[in-house]
Amino acid sequence: MLGASGQRILVIRYSALGDVVLATSVMEPLRRRFPGARIEWVTSPALAPLLEGLPGIAAVHRLGKRGGHGPLALARRLRGRFDLAIDLQEKVKSRLLALAAAPRRLHFHRRTFGQALWALVGRDRPVTRAHATRLYAEVLAPLGVEAPGRPELAVGERARALAREALAGARRPLVGIAPGATWATKRWAPERFAAVADALHAAGHGLVLVAGPGDAVAATAFRAALHAPLDADLTSLPVDVLAGALGELKLLVACDSGPVHLATALGVPTLALFGPTSTVRWAPAPPGRALSLGLPCQPCSNHGGERCPLGHHDCLRRLEVAPVLAAARELLA
Ligand code: SF4
Repeated sequence: MLGASGQRILVIRYSALGDVVLATSVMEPLRRRFPGARIEWVTSPALAPLLEGLPGIAAVHRLGKRGGHGPLALARRLRGRFDLAIDLQEKVKSRLLALAAAPRRLHFHRRTFGQALWALVGRDRPVTRAHATRLYAEVLAPLGVEAPGRPELAVGERARALAREALAGARRPLVGIAPGATWATKRWAPERFAAVADALHAAGHGLVLVAGPGDAVAATAFRAALHAPLDADLTSLPVDVLAGALGELKLLVACDSGPVHLATALGVPTLALFGPTSTVRWAPAPPGRALSLGLPCQPCSNHGGERCPLGHHDCLRRLEVAPVLAAARELLA
């Protein structure tokens, strides 16, 4: 039985950006429940800078290529070092790490037993019963935790300085535009993002493009369609520098994607445009806002996909520039 202090706890969540940010909502209840515990975290090398320096995280272990350990090597390093492992990833690798690390383990299950049975026959209905932070908090229920905390991030002084450099000379107030998303069905047309950006620039705002390494196509199309000048192009920055830069924005307009959760954790209002994914599960916390047409087929997917199952992609194709611009202006006001 875990006591209130002196315990060693390992949290495992290594992908993806938005999920790792949202998973940090377990830190506050864990610190409250185990005030003297030593808490460590397993994440990917690219996301580790966001967790290092967080109050309450004593060490961050890197899993994966480009600066991290392989799963077997990391399992050997962590073997028997913890009293409790909290697996928020729900993958074979995360189970292996939890099994090696601790005798007591708690695992994230996004599906109910019934949903898991449907998934076996290819009918994986999206999870819509609660926000992602609450789903992570449910994993801690056996520890007496009832509610999530707020997501937390660490942005070091060096990252803040590099972010200020990236934004040097930019016209303020700044609006960020993030037209990318991992899955095609989650992307709103780059030309429409550009139309929103042009209108906000005409109203006196500076413009910042926010894009990751996988967003090259959307970013290129956005740049090509934009008439106004970009004040800064934050493409493929290290994640902690990106966080530092997002913290300078007055508003971020984005698809349902990692930058939404990063900006929200920093207290920056975000306008997130939703297509196939659930606003219940993924909406940004206030003052951010999720915009969705609310079609009968929405949501159709947990994370989006390459093709609309109905072939028309109306959820985002029918979302016009005018309501997005109106919502952006409301948030800016
Ligand atoms: S239009 Fe409906 S079915 Fe198609 S991707 Fe959007 S939510 Fe899914």
